[in-house]
Parts: sequence; C-alpha cells; structure tokens
Amino acid sequence: MDDVALVREKIDLVALIGETVSLKRAGKNFKGLCPFHSEKSPSFMVSPERQIWHCFGCQKGGDCFSFIMEQEHIEFVEALRILAKRAGIELQQSPIATGIAAKKERLYEANKLALDFYHYLLTEHKSGAQAREYLNTRKMGEKIWQTFKLGFAPDQRDALTNYLLKRKHFKLEELLEVGLSTRTRSGVIDFFWNRLMFPLYDHRDNVVGFAGRLLIPSDHGPKYINTKETLIYHKGQTFFAIQVTKEHLRKTNQAILVEGEFDALTCFQAGITNVLAVKGTALTEQQVTLLSRYVNKVTMCFDGDSAGQEAIKRSIPLLEKKNLQTTVVIIPNGKDPDEAIKNNELGFKQALKHDIPVYDYLFDESIKGQDKASAQGKRNIVESFLPVVATIENSVVREHYLKKLSAALDTSYESLNREIERIERPLETQKGEIVQSEKQTRQERLEEYLVSLIVQHDDPKTAVLQIITALDSSLNNERAYQKIIFHLLTFVKTLQQAMFDHEVFLHHLPEELTTIYNKSLLFPLPKLTPEDYLVEISKTAGQLKEMYLRERIQELGKQIKQKEAEDKLEEVEQLEAESVEITKQLQAMNVK
Ligand code: ZN
Repeated sequence: MDDVALVREKIDLVALIGETVSLKRAGKNFKGLCPFHSEKSPSFMVSPERQIWHCFGCQKGGDCFSFIMEQEHIEFVEALRILAKRAGIELQQSPIATGIAAKKERLYEANKLALDFYHYLLTEHKSGAQAREYLNTRKMGEKIWQTFKLGFAPDQRDALTNYLLKRKHFKLEELLEVGLSTRTRSGVIDFFWNRLMFPLYDHRDNVVGFAGRLLIPSDHGPKYINTKETLIYHKGQTFFAIQVTKEHLRKTNQAILVEGEFDALTCFQAGITNVLAVKGTALTEQQVTLLSRYVNKVTMCFDGDSAGQEAIKRSIPLLEKKNLQTTVVIIPNGKDPDEAIKNNELGFKQALKHDIPVYDYLFDESIKGQDKASAQGKRNIVESFLPVVATIENSVVREHYLKKLSAALDTSYESLNREIERIERPLETQKGEIVQSEKQTRQERLEEYLVSLIVQHDDPKTAVLQIITALDSSLNNERAYQKIIFHLLTFVKTLQQAMFDHEVFLHHLPEELTTIYNKSLLFPLPKLTPEDYLVEISKTAGQLKEMYLRERIQELGKQIKQKEAEDKLEEVEQLEAESVEITKQLQAMNVK
C-alpha cells in the first residue's frame, strides 16, 4: 500500500472534520454546517462508510486530503504531511515538495533560523542586554521570553543577513522574499534592527513573520513594524500568540482578543491564557474563520478609543456569520489590558467575568452622550445602532434589540422595523450566494434524488430491481445522473445471485461519474421506514418515466413535422405509431 492509501485508511474522516465542524448523525451519514460557505441549515455531509464529504450548498467535496487542502489553503503534498503526522505514519517516500510548496518550506526555514538567532541574542548575548533590561522594566518575566520565543534584532544592520547568507547558505533572493532582508541604496541590510522581536506563527506552528518594536522611540521609523506581505505572511490571517494559546482556546472554548503584543503577553503572564492579539484593528474574515475552528465564544478586549470601537463594529457581521457568541469587556483602570493588569490585576479579571453581550455594549455606546428626548438625538442613536441590529441574523435576538431601542427612544417598533428594512436591502444583494442546486430542473432534481435513494439503500440491488421495469425502456442516457441510472440498471442485470458491492460498481462506472456517485451517497435524504423507502423509489421512478415519455412525444412531434416536410411518409407512419404507443402508456399511468 502506498503512503497516500495508508494515510487515507488510518484517518477517520468523521473525527477529523468533527474537530472543526459540529456533525450530527443523519441516517448513514453525518451532516453539519459547511465550513467553506456560509449557511444556516446544514448541507455539508460526511460519509463514515465511504470516508468522503460533500457540500450540497457550495458543491465542494472529496476525501480527507481535499478537506485539509481546502481548509488550510495548501497543496496536496502539505496535506499529506499533516495527515501522515496525525495518523502517526512515517512517510516512506518523503514527498518532494515542488513549486510553491517547496518555496514556502525554504521561507519557513529561514524564519525559523532567524527566530533562533534573535532569541539567542535576547537571552544569551551581551548585545541583548538593553532589551532584557527593557523587558524587566515592563515586568515581563523570563518564562514569557521563553514561552513566546521573544528575540532581539541587534543594532548592527547586517547581522542576520550575513548569518543566513554565509553560515546557513540561503540565497539573497530568498532573504528578500521572506522579508528578513531589505534592499537599500547602500546595499542589502536586515529589515529589523535594534528592535525587540515578536515572532508570528500560523496555527500550524510555522514561523511566518515578525513584529519588531523599537526599544527607545526615536526617529528610526515607527514604534512597531511588521514583516511585509510575503508568500507565507499575510497580514490579517494571523494572531500573535496563537502557537502557545491555541490549546487553551480549545479547552475554554473562548478567545480573549486584545490589540497588541504586550497586552497578550501580560494577560498570559497573569494566567489569562486563552488570549490572542489581533495586531490590527477589525478582524478579517480569515481570522474569524480561524477563530471558529477553536472556540464558540469571542470576547473583545480592545482599547476604549474610537479605533477600538470601530473595530468592534466592523467585526460583528463576520462573527455573526460564523455563529460566534461575541462579548465585549470594558477595560477598567487603564487604556489597554497591559496597563489595566499592571494597575489592578484582580479588577481586570473581574471585568473579564462581567463581559457584556456585544449588542448591549453597542447599544449603550450609541446612547452615550446623546439627548434621547430630542429629534436629533434620536436620529443619531438610530443611525448608529440600527445598522448593527441589521447584521443580527437570528430574528428573535433582532426583535429583542429593536424593542429595546424602541422603548429607549419612545419610538414605535414598526417605524424602526421599516427603517431597518431600508438598511437591509443593499445588504441582501451583497450576499448573492447562489446555491447551485437551484439551477437544476425538476427532472434533474428527481434524478439526483432517485440515484441517492438507490445507492444509500441497504441493498441497492433490491432498489434497482424496483425500478427496472419502469425505466428500462424509457430512460434517456444523456446527463450524468441518467448515465448513472443506466449503469446501475446494466450492472444489476449482471449480478444474478451476487450482492451489490459499491467498490465493484465503481469499477464499472466511467471515472468522470465517480464524483457524482459519491455525492449521491451523501445526499441528505428524508427519514423513511423500510417499506416507505421502496415505495418512494417506485414513485420517483414513475414520475421520471412520465417525464421521459412526455419528452419523447415532443421530440416525436418535431420529427414527424420534419419528415412530413421531406415527404418521407413511411417514416412518418413509424413515428406516429410510436407516438400513439407512448400516449397509451401515459394514459395507463395516469389511470393507475
Ligand atoms: Zn459549502
């Protein structure tokens, strides 16, 4: 067995997907909300039997490898490595990363070496003395330096570049590409120098970049600088501290979000270990997706300034879309968590316990400083809070806040409701997610349903025998589902005494139909008793037969006209006879 097959066999797809998607039993399959598109009712299906998945909303699907590739935005080789590690399988042929994957690995490696270099200078080297001193004044203990692998970039402008070029044999292009070095008029130098270094990891423990903070504010550029966008570092897709805190997030099912590196470190040191630093203002969609894989609750602990407020507002629709419960902490005794904890650790922890549901928080914020009695005041409040309410997807929750607003302003619920509809309309058009199955005709939907009924039956052979008489002669063989029905009919005829075996059947099926066949195995079927099940199959086959016959009559009608025009009367007669025959069949069916 080759590596790929071995890994596929060892991985339990339901358990793998179950880590990030909440799956519920649905007959032979499991279903849940799709992690790859936004939906309210589950159309994401997993088959434990076949070890495959498919989403009937966005039409993505595949096996364990394609799931990881889709989830992590990575290539096959990387997915194989991750899953082999998970399955405890030592890969026999070490997969040779090529192209982008190979390049990425070189860049990770360069960052890893830079991390060790910076960390050594901070913890061991005399050049790091000033940085150590600085961390001490900020009351950041050595354990934190170690846990988060903090570092120091020395004042010597080419220290790291030289080290990686001469000692580690990296190419200059690679160092420029990963953002560790930069080209200036006087040559290539280190991107970071004389800065305290915070490594940035992705959630798979790769070092993707760094944030560097000036020790002493000066005119050498901004207080903080980050690695530029590179092949492996994308601003807005990472959180500082994730490599350390992700397990704590999972355990507590809550993420405390703070703005800066020191906020996160101070929290962690104070025992608030489920913390992440956003390193920007508003959350991005990728960050929210990442969060939703670890937690159900997100608590925002942003600075009280207007940028922090704006960040909260802008993040809500994304959090709401992922069904994350969101709360806000009002920071006591300081402008940010770092300061607040230093001033009064207990007070801060208490504030954390009294986190406020985000909508209540924003409600209070929009009322603050406004005159509720004046028309202008009311208008200001409505203008600031109503767009927030419009993002609430749950209608009960939405009604709650509309009523709260209506009571506070002494304005009728109806007028607020009308106002919100006005806001909503443009939002609706933005959504525009087209569910592909909508495009199917009724006939195509029936075919998909019939194939799914058959292949998900405990004994597909019996199921096929149920429809043979109905469909054998009338079936078209043009579209994919029709072709599968055709192959099912032919295959079952060859079976005689043998049982239906999915693997054997798949062998008979042309390869281009495999995906659709697998999809049918996952199609969400209604609950049916064994008796009803066969009845449903017959009924569906009957409906299809009728459609096929009507189609045929139309087609015959066209052909007859054409042949008449060509004066081929003998052929016309033949076609008419067939048409009469089909009409009789249709009449007989309708009598039944
Ligand atoms: Zn989907």
